[in-house]
Amino acid sequence: MIGKPLKELGKALADKEISSVELTQLHLDRIARLNPEINAFITVDAEKSLAQARAADARIAAGLAGPLTGIPIAQKDIFCARGWRTTCGSKMLGNFVSPYDATVIEKFDAAGTVNLGKTNMDEFAMGSSNETSHFGIVRNPWDRSRVPGGSSGGSAAAVAALMAPAATGTDTGGSIRQPAALCNLTGLKPTYGVVSRWGMIAFASSLDQAGPMARTAEDCALMLNAMAGFDEKDSTSLERPTEDYTRDLEQPLKGLKIGLPKEFYGEGCDASVMARVQDAIAEYRKLGADTVEISLPNMQHGVAAYYVIAPAEASSNLSRFDGVRYGYRAPEYSDLADMYQKSRAQGFGAEVKRRILIGTYVLSHGYYDAYYLQAQRIRRLIANDFVEAFKQCDVIMGPTSPCTAFGLGEKSADPVQMYLSDIYTIAVNLAGLPGMSIPCGFSDLGQTRLPVGLQLIGDYFGEARLLNVAHRYQQVTDWHLQQPKE
Ligand code: GLN
Repeated sequence: MIGKPLKELGKALADKEISSVELTQLHLDRIARLNPEINAFITVDAEKSLAQARAADARIAAGLAGPLTGIPIAQKDIFCARGWRTTCGSKMLGNFVSPYDATVIEKFDAAGTVNLGKTNMDEFAMGSSNETSHFGIVRNPWDRSRVPGGSSGGSAAAVAALMAPAATGTDTGGSIRQPAALCNLTGLKPTYGVVSRWGMIAFASSLDQAGPMARTAEDCALMLNAMAGFDEKDSTSLERPTEDYTRDLEQPLKGLKIGLPKEFYGEGCDASVMARVQDAIAEYRKLGADTVEISLPNMQHGVAAYYVIAPAEASSNLSRFDGVRYGYRAPEYSDLADMYQKSRAQGFGAEVKRRILIGTYVLSHGYYDAYYLQAQRIRRLIANDFVEAFKQCDVIMGPTSPCTAFGLGEKSADPVQMYLSDIYTIAVNLAGLPGMSIPCGFSDLGQTRLPVGLQLIGDYFGEARLLNVAHRYQQVTDWHLQQPKE
């Protein structure tokens, strides 16, 4: 059962070939064996998981099961889950046990899934390598001397190492797609507003969006069915009719127009990554798709605009961590101001402090116009580029990440190098569009095979179409089924 797609697990559970308790225990056993080295989970609570599994088994026995009932899912530690320690990868929340459930967690509970544990992540989701976590680095199951990507690096490593059948992630600038690419997974960042952000610890509220990370596009569709939907508790949640994201999976791709932005195919991408992306596009042509060259002229400013807007929002969101209401409080202080200062100085890591400083600076009087306002203008231009592009094509394709998994420590001393990990993904968040990464082959570096991800970008609310485009490719290729050696 380990490594099987969600649909097969659902069928095995419905046919009583295996119980949810057994399936959960199988994964808990793998976690016990592999997690000490890979460190994909921050918190595992076997008793809690097994209690949910027993409830799922009762539900299955009563004939009330849905497609995901009884399936264990790993949850990124950014989602508040009642009774679970919820750290967001930070010392600041190292002792925080959430008194309530995020809407995403509530929805998975309603679907009858089992919470398998809380996955490691970059601190407050700031990073591309999972090296900023207070709870230690995560190792990439494909090569344990390399990073899994970030910030959803724990979720990616958990699924890649077959410790979990699927996981949740969040993507503010690339944090679902980039780790999916580096760990050979399928990951989807939905259109902004499709999945509720309520109870998801905020990094940059106008960019953050949760989504599924799994082995296949079909699994992602099933997960998104559980996650998506209007939520009155999130003011940016969109009120739209419920969709079945599996509905178009089998649609033929004949006549599909694929846009290839010339900005994605110039300099800046490793040749080994580009070669696999080109192979994938050739495969799509065989499936009946046509390609057209397009341009996203303002995309080159995306990273710069993001590193003004995201820190600005983060500096505001993170002001709530003051040592008073919850989270870390410095053990010794002289007065209230000193308590704030020491708690924040000791509770946040270096990258988070860097972002708070940048954010406070760009929002301050005299700099607001020069930086923040300017960045918002670039954001609009980038969104407009996509509107023009989608007049010429149905889906946009290119690399997810400019390189394969890099070595632990290789980029952590140079923030700009790290920030460039998201050069192809960030514009999608700035525009609020849906994006996916799917496995499209491997780059061979002598002994090590490292996964390469193909990025698919859709028009607003084009999730079902993206999943269809990904699924069709996965029917004629088997990259997504390859697993790392143990
Ligand atoms: N790597 C980007 C950052 O550090 C994006 C992170 C994310 O998507 N959460 O901000």
